[in-house]
Amino acid sequence: MRIARFTTGEDPRFGLVEGEAGEEVLHVVVGDPLYAPLQPTGERVPLADARLLAPVIPRSKVVGIGRNYAEHAEELGNDVPQRPLVFLTPNTAVVGPGDPVVLPEGSQEVHYEGELAVVIGRVCKDVPRERAREVVLGYTCANDVTARDWQRSDGQWARAKGFDTSCPLGPWIVPDLDVADLRVTTRLDGRTVQDGTTADMVFDVPDLVAAVSAAFTLLPGDVILTGTPAGVGPLAEGQRVEVEVEGVGVLANPVVRR
Ligand code: MG
Repeated sequence: MRIARFTTGEDPRFGLVEGEAGEEVLHVVVGDPLYAPLQPTGERVPLADARLLAPVIPRSKVVGIGRNYAEHAEELGNDVPQRPLVFLTPNTAVVGPGDPVVLPEGSQEVHYEGELAVVIGRVCKDVPRERAREVVLGYTCANDVTARDWQRSDGQWARAKGFDTSCPLGPWIVPDLDVADLRVTTRLDGRTVQDGTTADMVFDVPDLVAAVSAAFTLLPGDVILTGTPAGVGPLAEGQRVEVEVEGVGVLANPVVRR
């Protein structure tokens, strides 16, 4: 199942994506799947006639995880953390499929970071690892776009990872996915620049849900970014960046400079 948020020019709606690549149809559902059971209205919209939006706008927070793949920690000269390294990104950073990533003025080194994203489905706190699956609505792709020079210079990551357009999410949410060993790839203008697997996470998704919910109450629509594999590198104006998570889909965004 794939749950998309989309517009045909009016208010955003949600739909289940059915059909093969290139011929997908949106089966419109009633309300917001975060708060209402999935109930089709009977209306169908060809995907080609719709514009996909970020599948979720986090109501309260995007929780990021840093250095969760050993090879990525190493490539930037960092040690693997002893416990999940948690940061926050404001929900205003979120954009959807096809939306431009706007390189921020004053940064000369903006990097892509392709990641698996976890969408929380219910209010929860102190979730034990073995019950993590119960609080997850589903999974999508994320690009944790990072101003690497600001990350180094600021001493904390709010601006580096939280500027407007720095958190593309999409193209849709896939529930009921086994995320233990999924390929995560990033392409720049079609050239593969990251090619990892979620099996290489230092802390897996149940670990992350447990650790994050120990610190914060999680709300429906909150998102956890699970960290990026090795191969991060710069984005340049005019490029197209794609993040693909096996079993989810492809999140593509153009890169512009304001
Ligand atoms: Mg990241």
